[in-house]
Amino acid sequence: MQDTSLSHILNHLGEERAEYFHAVAPPVVQSSNFVFPDLHSFRTGFADELHQHVYSRGNNPTVEILRKKLAALEGTEDALVFSSGAAAIAAAVIGNVKAGDHVVCQQMPYSWTSSLLRKLLGRFGVEHTFVDGTDTDNIAAAIRPNTRVLYLESPNTMTFECQDLAACAALAKKHGLVSMIDNSYNSPLYQNPAAFGIDIVLHSASKYLNGHSDVVAGVLCASSEMVQKIFSSELMTIGAALAPHDAALIIRGLRTLPLRLQRSSESAQKIVARLDAHPKVERIWYPFHDSFPQRELAMSQMRGCSGLFSVQFRAGSMEKMEAFVHRLRRFLMAVSWGGHESLIIPMVGFYNIPGRPDPDLPWNFVRFYIGLEDADWLWEDLLQAMEVL
Ligand SMILES: *Cc1c(COP(=O)(O)O)cnc(C)c1O
Repeated sequence: MQDTSLSHILNHLGEERAEYFHAVAPPVVQSSNFVFPDLHSFRTGFADELHQHVYSRGNNPTVEILRKKLAALEGTEDALVFSSGAAAIAAAVIGNVKAGDHVVCQQMPYSWTSSLLRKLLGRFGVEHTFVDGTDTDNIAAAIRPNTRVLYLESPNTMTFECQDLAACAALAKKHGLVSMIDNSYNSPLYQNPAAFGIDIVLHSASKYLNGHSDVVAGVLCASSEMVQKIFSSELMTIGAALAPHDAALIIRGLRTLPLRLQRSSESAQKIVARLDAHPKVERIWYPFHDSFPQRELAMSQMRGCSGLFSVQFRAGSMEKMEAFVHRLRRFLMAVSWGGHESLIIPMVGFYNIPGRPDPDLPWNFVRFYIGLEDADWLWEDLLQAMEVL
């Protein structure tokens, strides 16, 4: 019987050690192309570039090990990897639309997903509607005869709105839409959208999956048929393939995914609980928080809550907010998340940027990511910084 346990997937699945000296760590097969010893293997290779070894823009043995693990983690038949999460997202959407089609998308997706729909696909005659996906009725109302794709991100990584995955999958089936979701927030350990009937599950592997802030990569998990379709079109023609060395780094990262995710989640919970009791905190945005409007839905779809949350502080003025940001020593100010290091994105930094409109979110809003450091050590830093508020 096939071993479907997480331990098997992360430690052994896809690793054919007899092929490479019984080495425990898979080799980085740093080769662009692969030799055909005879015409029979030449023909076999070109009959199935996704599974044979022809050229590394298509398939590569190191990358293939990673693909097998990711498909197993999301419970789909197959998976593709890309040189960024944005590339995986673009391939999934572009692969399922043509000129004249329409996409329904939840209203606050990742910024470059929004850009893909608004700027890039608009130029090719693909329309879109952003809707408040917290109510499935809004999604249903936005579907038109030419709608082809339902794009979800549940939760998103700033304000964490959720969509009802089972209801959305049923709606997509009813209208013949391809449903897809950016599942980066949860990693495959905390939510498996394919189990709810969602067709394509996407990840930025730059976040938890790799987890060490040293690789940019993307993942697309789906049926064999969908993977084959996107492989032979978007992946091979646009060519945003993942390099073998980066694949090996992500395989290494995956070994510790459960430990890292647990640590990040537990520390985030501890810090959220302490912030909750602090007088300088106005509001906490965290899917499993008592005050979160969709807490029940989040808890019914997610097995855990990751290390991201946002806070609105009671800051007397923008200057005090800026002083708070500058007093933090142990949190780094940077984009991205999912690595070892704790981070903040202060909304106040998006105010007064020349040539850019001020954001919709208030200046007292800060997005936090809690990494692998000691929670008490991080809390000390927050406490001292909150003194200036
Ligand atoms: C980072 C991120 C992306 C984009 O992934 P890249 O690997 O940076 O291209 C997409 N969605 C979410 C939710 C992200 O956090």
